[in-house]
Amino acid sequence: MLTCYQHDGDIRTVLARLVPSAGPAEMLRAATAIPAGAQWHPDAVREPLTQDMGGVLTYSRGLVLHVQAGNNDPVGWFGRADVQASSHWWVSKTGRLIQYVPAGRVAWAQAGGNSSWHSVETEGLPDEALTGAQLATLAVLYRWGRVWWGWPLTLAESPTGSGLGWHGMGGTPWGGHFDCPGETRKGQRAAILALVQTTPTPTPPEEDDVPLTDADADKVAKATISRLQSLVWDDPHPPNQPHVGALIRRTYEMTGDTLGRVTAIQTASATPAARTASEPPPVTVDDVLAGIAATTDNRPLLDILRAVTARLAELAAPSTSAPTGGTPA
Ligand SMILES: [Zn+2]
Repeated sequence: MLTCYQHDGDIRTVLARLVPSAGPAEMLRAATAIPAGAQWHPDAVREPLTQDMGGVLTYSRGLVLHVQAGNNDPVGWFGRADVQASSHWWVSKTGRLIQYVPAGRVAWAQAGGNSSWHSVETEGLPDEALTGAQLATLAVLYRWGRVWWGWPLTLAESPTGSGLGWHGMGGTPWGGHFDCPGETRKGQRAAILALVQTTPTPTPPEEDDVPLTDADADKVAKATISRLQSLVWDDPHPPNQPHVGALIRRTYEMTGDTLGRVTAIQTASATPAARTASEPPPVTVDDVLAGIAATTDNRPLLDILRAVTARLAELAAPSTSAPTGGTPA
């Protein structure tokens, strides 16, 4: 059930599986309600504006980088009656992420480019480089947009492009802000995309150390799937009546949260025998089952599921030496 989604972070491709033969906009409209997860970045502080935004944004070509040309949260500026401007997000020099406009609405950041792009303001002046913290947060933001809105890992240099763009690329139709965000920040976009691709290496899940028998692995897999289902299916939409919003949410959680951990899990699952042989098991299967029942975070569950899947595959593989059920040394 998981393998369909593991390696694909593009929401358009994901949605295509749910709503075949439709374009991205149609697919998003097909969702009876865009889930909250697609509207607000989970790490963003929400400071929703009550004005200065357009209608529904159903399709995004990517993210447009801006420079604030100033410091501090611009919410007061955006909120002024005489200032008809907004952006979806703002990133402070310390890496704080604030969101003003839900991602499913048009923000007023780049005139003619508003209706098909998301926008992010960045604290500071055009001749100041983005700080490391800003780059990191922009990468976190971009990774989210990649999953939810299909932002590709490319640099956009014109309104007909897609990916990580910059305000000035739109020229006069985009308000003539040719110097936004300035050459320095414009040149840092590649570093942001590189960060998106570079995932931190979390410690391998401790469950990998459990010398699971095939029966144990099966037990853990069933408990994990059961717990996952209870976590990701919202109450109003029980599993036997899948709601498209819940489906998308579930898909997102299975892709986005898994994507960043694939490398670590692959590394961990590639050497289970060595790990089992060289290290004493730190936890028992019962510990794992108790942990599964108690967790409210689906990410470790997905990790467990992957680890167990790998273990089951290993057990099912033909052995050239001892028969199955070998010693858990
Ligand atoms: Zn701008």
